[in-house]
Amino acid sequence: MTQTLPMHDVIIMGGGLAGLTLALQLRQRFPDIDVLVLERRAHPVPHAAHKVGESSVEIGAHYFDTVLGLQGHMDSAQLRKFGFRFFFSEGRHDIENVTEIGASRYLSTPSYQIDRGIFENHLGQVARARGVHFVDHALVRQIALSEDNGLHRIAWREGEGANARTQEAECRWLVDACGRAGLLKRKLGLAQDNDHHAHAVWFRIGERITLDEWSQDADWRARCQPQARWLSTNHLVGTGYWVWLIPLASGSHSVGIVADPALHPLDTMDSFDKAMDWFRTWQPRLFDALDGQRHLLQDFMFLRKFSYGCKQVFSDQRWALTGEAGLFLDPFYSPGSDFIAISNSYICDLVAHDRDGRSLRARAQLYDQIYHSFYESTLALYEGQYPLFGDPEVLPVKVIWDYTYYWGVLSQIFFQERLTDLATLGLLREELQHAQQLNRAMQALLRAWSAHTDKANAACMLDQAALPWFATLNASLRQPRDDTPAFLARLHACIAQLRTLAHQIHAHACQAHPALAAEPPGQAMARLLALPLARVPVNRSAEPMLFAVD
Ligand SMILES: Cc1cc2nc3c(=O)[nH]c(=O)nc-3n(C[C@H](O)[C@H](O)[C@H](O)COP(=O)(O)OP(=O)(O)OC[C@H]3O[C@@H](n4cnc5c(N)ncnc54)[C@H](O)[C@@H]3O)c2cc1C
Repeated sequence: MTQTLPMHDVIIMGGGLAGLTLALQLRQRFPDIDVLVLERRAHPVPHAAHKVGESSVEIGAHYFDTVLGLQGHMDSAQLRKFGFRFFFSEGRHDIENVTEIGASRYLSTPSYQIDRGIFENHLGQVARARGVHFVDHALVRQIALSEDNGLHRIAWREGEGANARTQEAECRWLVDACGRAGLLKRKLGLAQDNDHHAHAVWFRIGERITLDEWSQDADWRARCQPQARWLSTNHLVGTGYWVWLIPLASGSHSVGIVADPALHPLDTMDSFDKAMDWFRTWQPRLFDALDGQRHLLQDFMFLRKFSYGCKQVFSDQRWALTGEAGLFLDPFYSPGSDFIAISNSYICDLVAHDRDGRSLRARAQLYDQIYHSFYESTLALYEGQYPLFGDPEVLPVKVIWDYTYYWGVLSQIFFQERLTDLATLGLLREELQHAQQLNRAMQALLRAWSAHTDKANAACMLDQAALPWFATLNASLRQPRDDTPAFLARLHACIAQLRTLAHQIHAHACQAHPALAAEPPGQAMARLLALPLARVPVNRSAEPMLFAVD
């Protein structure tokens, strides 16, 4: 490498979702910062058939529309998501006669269905307009990390054919946002496996899948206002798998199957024709919708084991990993963008400390620990849980639990801008650890409960919008930032609510199946609920929080 090289404050390798949003966040926080983003693909990228990661949930959505200031684009160029929706439609053509979980109306806090091609083109343009050096068609090939307080160096190949050139530069901060290519992860030996073995296949079809028209039953159609279930992330669920249906603003629809290989091996679905045969057996109503549209297929992809961890993502040596270059969990609740929002926010804060000349050592380590604890507790929602996805008695309760945990803990910390407030998080340590233990115990209880149920698939809608406390929890995310005492009170109230919900789930499951109370998961939950935690008490006489099902 040559000696005098262009120098940047931050070089981001990979200009996908994580890399471009980090560049915007950095420029927003430090108007004078010099950021170079290198992206292998040439822009503009294609619409629709570009990448997965199309459904956003509240944290990711808030990061895009509010933190990065992209509200105008989200409203005008993407689709407002009609929440999540689940149908126990395995083997069925009559979708109106199966259990549906979802909201009958929009809840307050928005989320979006994102056409990744449209979004990344927009992010590239905004990045350039906001002063980021964004170079597309640039493949990073060499990395030399500084081992002292010096600069990192990288080399990349820009352009193609006779015009291709090798370029080099130095930087104070080097961020790997190159997705599954995992440049820094490979170089530093940071790969870490996990025990979640699910696989996925997906494709886009150049036509809307208007699930609302799958039944002529007027009452079923009128259950939702607007009558636009197609705008939801629809999950067609069965034991060991779920199918996603995600509409895209470009007019296409994204379809995927995510499955536990022990129950639905990948070789039963790893081509479009095989996936169609699979739908014919397991989700025949979707097969009917797609069969006449085969000529509109836009792409087909699969990933054998998509979930993995990473030993370290933030370093005081001024490197970091964000997005899928670090870790990835599972798309069931679409947490990919959330984790990008969280890691990017930590990276911005580390850069801020570095610019102020403050030591990074303790902070980088603590952010890494907190980020990993978010990963661990989110992984518990998925790992080993696919067998119960086909249980219409247990999955609706799991969805309510998982959302109460997500909106009540992680989302509050993010929306209230407390991610990097280590002093306040320290004051909540005991309660946050308890919430984590409670979540683990709940996931085990749900598994044990599902072993007892009849899997009754009632013809009904379990309407999340009709649970007042649930809609209120969702709305609470949009409240203004609290001062510290009010934030502590907010988190205590949320965790107390979580404990009360745990108590009601435990009581409900054990009443229906008394043997459960004596099994280890039933006993473990009872022990946790008996702990006298003064700031987060269980309210044993609270109004019922669960769906009332006859
Ligand atoms: C099956 C599945 C479904 C998913 N569904 C969802 C969902 O619904 N919602 C959600 O939020 N998340 C979802 N995700 C996760 C989502 O895909 C990721 O969170 C997101 O795409 C990661 O963005 P990224 O920027 O890290 O990676 P990418 O978007 O892959 O960007 C990485 C970029 O780096 C570039 N690159 C690679 N190598 C180099 C190199 N050597 N030099 C320069 N550039 C390079 C690539 O061209 C690419 O553009 C899903 C993931 C999977 C596997």
